[in-house]
Amino acid sequence: MANYQKELKAVKAALAEAALLCRRVQRTLAPTALTKQDRSPVTLADFGSQALVCRTLREAFPGDPIMAEEDAGALRNGRHAELLSELVAQVQRVRPDARPEDVLDWIDYGQATGYHERFWTLDPVDGTKGFLRGQHYAIALALIERGQVVLSGLSCPNMDKGAGAQFVAARGQGGQQVAADTVRVSSTSATASARLCESVEAAHSAHGDAARVVRALGITRPGVRLDSQAKYAAVARGDADIYLRLPRDRTYIERIWDHAAGSLLVTEAGGRVTDCRGRELDFGCGGRLERNLGIVATNGVLHDAVIASLKQLGIGQG
Ligand code: AMP
Ligand code: MG
Repeated sequence: MANYQKELKAVKAALAEAALLCRRVQRTLAPTALTKQDRSPVTLADFGSQALVCRTLREAFPGDPIMAEEDAGALRNGRHAELLSELVAQVQRVRPDARPEDVLDWIDYGQATGYHERFWTLDPVDGTKGFLRGQHYAIALALIERGQVVLSGLSCPNMDKGAGAQFVAARGQGGQQVAADTVRVSSTSATASARLCESVEAAHSAHGDAARVVRALGITRPGVRLDSQAKYAAVARGDADIYLRLPRDRTYIERIWDHAAGSLLVTEAGGRVTDCRGRELDFGCGGRLERNLGIVATNGVLHDAVIASLKQLGIGQG
């Protein structure tokens, strides 16, 4: 990965720090969760991870906007003083000199919105529901230039039986599991033996529709459900062949931080990622994938068959 050396170094360092904090918080028996306006949960791991990653990025690339999932609003109003002091204590275990106001400011570095020619996008804890269940989650970071993901890092602390796995990818330069090898998608070409993965949460992907695709393609192997962009990592290194995220309705538009890092990793590992209609993901519309519907990630060989099946079944066609 000859290009983006400085960026790559920052990505690896930021993800390693954030993973350290997330692991510690997940080990505590009942991580406190707040409920956000959209009713989704957020924990001090989400805030702490975002603070640490944004701090590192800001220091290395002061001019780059960061579009991250969380903001410090709920922590600034004084109603969650206990959570804030717990958060600062966790961040201080990694950054001993961090003051409460620093932590809040670092979180809010991630408040960029709209279109930027070059910007970072971060999901500090992707799959928070999995995190709270003690299962899979990911820290997902990507650099977007002119609407294209050019660099990504994905840390999956509970992969490999809890040993954790970290991945990086740079456009045109391949994907790699950090401290291991180049990652490569599977070569599975028979749909019957394809291994499918999807969300645990039924609210995030239409499980019933996925079952229809499984029947239509004649898939006989059991699928797996796991939270977060660990699904993209599974496809990228050939643990799974197909990742389906099928829209339950047209009202939800996918967030870029849920797909930027993972999609580049799969593409660079030799796979393909599109929406349900076979369209490329368009990261040039701001914070959401406004021009796409659902997600299909495959090893590439199986892609056309999956898209044809979705079309035939009328799933995710808009
Ligand atoms: P996963 O762990 O793959 O189920 O994805 C977790 C992500 O799903 C969260 O980060 C949310 O941004 C996203 N999400 C929330 N609601 C929906 C929905 N209705 N459809 C698809 N994704 C959603
Ligand atoms: Mg997420």
